Amino acid sequence: MQKLSDRTAGFTDSVIRRMTRVSAQYNAINLSQGFPDFEPPQEILDRLGQVAQEDFHQYSITWGSQNFREALAAKQSRLMGRTIDPNSEIVVTCGSTEAMMAAMMTVTNPGDKVIVFSPFYENYGADTILSGAEPIYVPLHPPEFQFNPEELEAAFRKRPKALVLCNPSNPCGKVFTRQELTIIADLAEKYDTYVITDEVYEHIVYAPHEHVYFAAINGMWERTITCSSLSKTYSITGWRLGYIIGPSRIVDVAKKIHDFLTVGAAAPLQEAAVVGLRFGNDYYRQLLEKYTHKRNLFLSGLEDLGLAHTKPEGAYYVMLDISEFGFDSDVEFCEVLARDVGVGAVPGSSFFREPVHHLIRFHFSKKDETLYGALNRLEQLRKKIPARS
Ligand code: GLN
Repeated sequence: MQKLSDRTAGFTDSVIRRMTRVSAQYNAINLSQGFPDFEPPQEILDRLGQVAQEDFHQYSITWGSQNFREALAAKQSRLMGRTIDPNSEIVVTCGSTEAMMAAMMTVTNPGDKVIVFSPFYENYGADTILSGAEPIYVPLHPPEFQFNPEELEAAFRKRPKALVLCNPSNPCGKVFTRQELTIIADLAEKYDTYVITDEVYEHIVYAPHEHVYFAAINGMWERTITCSSLSKTYSITGWRLGYIIGPSRIVDVAKKIHDFLTVGAAAPLQEAAVVGLRFGNDYYRQLLEKYTHKRNLFLSGLEDLGLAHTKPEGAYYVMLDISEFGFDSDVEFCEVLARDVGVGAVPGSSFFREPVHHLIRFHFSKKDETLYGALNRLEQLRKKIPARS
């Protein structure tokens, strides 16, 4: 038989999602793929029940139901400091996963280059390759995960069509400062490059850090495709509700791509989520309090166990340094961890372009009892996984 497409040869399936399956296989507490085990806000669930009895069972407008786009435009206009037009500047997508893919296909032609900071959320590599573009990786240097402006400019000199910016960053928890964003903005302007953002953790930024929307940096609106979603903000990762925000010139093209990729996000779920988009500031304050508490709980637990780790400024991931265990392969370490200790993690190498094999990623978007359960199991870590020499 003929060979299948060459398109997928450059990447594997998602290691993050694979680790969820590995966790299930060993009955491990799954701190790998980042999603909550607590309930979404009750108002949203109540509304979902009502919506089932109402008339929302057919396609919505392909680029998103009017109600949803209006509520989203009102919320994001408030946050991003400009009036966003719900009709011409928004596309509602099936999660930010589709938003990022559609953004990449909107901006690039096959053969174009795209800057991706490393470590990176694994979809960006695959999105770039699926679009026929070629990633240029620029390192974020641990432990602070700073970029070197000269290394970044060297990448811009290769004339990329776009840069992908995940802020707050998955997996390293970096929150880009205004000063760093301005360096990126100046280079984007100088080399005429688009910026595709992934801002799904926009509401999970720990004090004293603050989230600055890249599109809100002076002059950047015209060249920024903002991607985000409701998954993390309202704890509804399974609803697959995401969006693109940008100038109509870009959004017009993104609407076409989205239309043929998926037609549209689930109409009843869009309708049920509107109540969430209309929440006041209190909701976002409480969400941040909850995650600040979980971060403190989990990080102080790791500290008590004497396990070296990163301190996230945003998002809900922490990277653990496993050097002391002497494993050559972090993939093997995560397999043994799930099997023998009963905790699921993601091998750090799936995020890094560089040969980094001494970090693994946990997430702490879980009920306190789940986090305590995982910490209890990690107490046995050194006993159950003896260091290899
Ligand atoms: N963003 C989450 C993570 O990094 C979930 C990824 C996914 O599977 N969509 O774990």
